[in-house]
Amino acid sequence: MRYISTRGRAPALSFCDILLAGLAPDGGLYLPESYPKVSPEELARWRGLSYAELAFAILSKYIDDIPPADLKALADKTYTADVYRFARRSEQRKEITPLIWLVPEKLGLLELSNGPTLAFKDMAMQLLGNLFEYALEKRDDSLNILGATSGDTGSAAEYAMRGKQRITVFMLSPEGKMSGFQRAQMYSLQDANIFNIAINGMFDDAQDMVKAVSNDAAFKAKHKIGAVNSINWARVLAQIVYYFKGYFAATRHDGQKVSFSVPSGNFGNICAGHIARRMGLPISRLILATNENDVLDEFFKTGCYRPRSAAETFVTSSPSMDISKASNFERFIFDLTGRDAEAVRGLWKQIEAGEAFDLSDSPCFSGVSDFAFVSGKSLHSDRIAAIKMAHECYGIIIDPHTADGLKVALEVAGEGIDEPVIVLETAQAAKFSATLEEALGRAPSRPAELVGLEALPQKVTLMAADTEAIKAFIAAVDNQPAMTSIHMLPTDFA
Ligand SMILES: *Cc1c(COP(=O)(O)O)cnc(C)c1O
Repeated sequence: MRYISTRGRAPALSFCDILLAGLAPDGGLYLPESYPKVSPEELARWRGLSYAELAFAILSKYIDDIPPADLKALADKTYTADVYRFARRSEQRKEITPLIWLVPEKLGLLELSNGPTLAFKDMAMQLLGNLFEYALEKRDDSLNILGATSGDTGSAAEYAMRGKQRITVFMLSPEGKMSGFQRAQMYSLQDANIFNIAINGMFDDAQDMVKAVSNDAAFKAKHKIGAVNSINWARVLAQIVYYFKGYFAATRHDGQKVSFSVPSGNFGNICAGHIARRMGLPISRLILATNENDVLDEFFKTGCYRPRSAAETFVTSSPSMDISKASNFERFIFDLTGRDAEAVRGLWKQIEAGEAFDLSDSPCFSGVSDFAFVSGKSLHSDRIAAIKMAHECYGIIIDPHTADGLKVALEVAGEGIDEPVIVLETAQAAKFSATLEEALGRAPSRPAELVGLEALPQKVTLMAADTEAIKAFIAAVDNQPAMTSIHMLPTDFA
């Protein structure tokens, strides 16, 4: 299997070659040159597989430069009941992604947030950590991961990379802008290869610093700077697995269809659903839910893709969906245009110039229904109402992002979907206690292992939003790993 760029001007590469790369050299995103199809016989055989076995079966279709025995060992090591141990009901502790029926055989919730950081990003990031470690070992190489986070991505990356040989993580976060729980989750890690850096600024400042460092090609090459952001193909690939697993859990035989409702931000999660459907999984609809930041809902309703400025981006109570442009969307547009790299290049030229593009008059947009997408939007009041309703009617406590997915699922199902709808649960409520208190009048409980998290000692370095300072920090660690403690000023933000 070879991987090509959505902009058509980069050489085709194998999986391990793009694993550690971010964007393709032509600025595009990597995709497999074709989507492998799953035959009805295969689908029937896969129904009985465990999560790790299913992951191996799907990964094998996309990865041909890791020996099968090694790939199997990586899947087995990643998808264990111990890693995904925060299932809330004791009878599900063995399932990696339990399905809960809210309305039997009609409305389900697929729990994807039972990993170490209580958000679905662990599903892919844990695999990425093991793949990176494996590939670096093979190449006798090392990697410095530089990232910026407003909460979920950074912690998922740190928990996936902690303690790994050959990998060092530098994670920038905006000082004082995350919840106490999110801060404690990251800053309490004491691993020698994890560096938390709190930036005196906003998330965008941190993000700009990462971009500035990545744009310095010489520095990037010298210090082997890598990224784990949501455009990484391996993350999308890993997410395909739970669409299959959720499908099998919700159906009795392979003639049935299901729909999935996906709380969306950067379009990574639902992009995996789109690819699962292209592979032949019987998905009826892919229901895309946005919050107030509705750039994607607007596209699916009108054909116009209009990324927002920072000033037009709302800070909401489902913060992991607060995006102004959706970084994985280019992958979908590539498919929508019939894989016309030239067209994609033209469209993203407009986007990069700060403009919008409008496909409403293009024949490809009229084909959007063949791709099974429908969309909807959920506001703060909808989120609060959905959390209340889920608690009162179904006896479950859901987080604000999942609430957006539930709200839009019910809205769309009301328009007559006969098959079961599965809402993807992207985080546990325990991460967002302020919003839960507003909805239910009390804070959600959290896993016993995480009680008292905020009281643990924290390891974080405070830094100005200054690109040269972060470069100097990385260079110092990189050149003299044993000396790093000198640069560490443990600071307690509690
Ligand atoms: C990242 C995230 C999302 C958005 O997922 P995308 O893949 O960016 O569309 C939704 N909910 C939660 C809790 C997240 O962490």
